[in-house]
Amino acid sequence: MPGRGPRSSRRDPWRVFKYSPRAEVLNRAGGRCEGAFILFWGRCGNAAAEADHVFPYSKGGPTVVSNAQALCKSHNLRKGNMIPPWWYIRGLEKRRHSYFPEGSDVRVFAVMTAEDVGARERPSGRL
Ligand SMILES: [Zn+2]
Repeated sequence: MPGRGPRSSRRDPWRVFKYSPRAEVLNRAGGRCEGAFILFWGRCGNAAAEADHVFPYSKGGPTVVSNAQALCKSHNLRKGNMIPPWWYIRGLEKRRHSYFPEGSDVRVFAVMTAEDVGARERPSGRL
């Protein structure tokens, strides 16, 4: 999907979602996995276990909430290091309309904001 992927291959110094970003990713999904049953465009019924990168970290996807999805253990295991095809992102965003909190942005952006960059430069390394 043009314009949504990482703008550089430089890796985010933050490897994993933790503390408040992780909580935010799991909460906006209602604690449930955002993975799909591909055939029906339905949503996985399992509890979310992990905050996962939509655009893989190894492919330059930053550790930001806009590049995150809540996944159950099995969806997390099944997902390799593939860059997601456009239809995967479209499906995810479409499903999100039914469960994201009112006013939340359902779109995936694997891009760091100025605020994200600033947080990484702060010596404490915390948001
Ligand atoms: Zn799942």
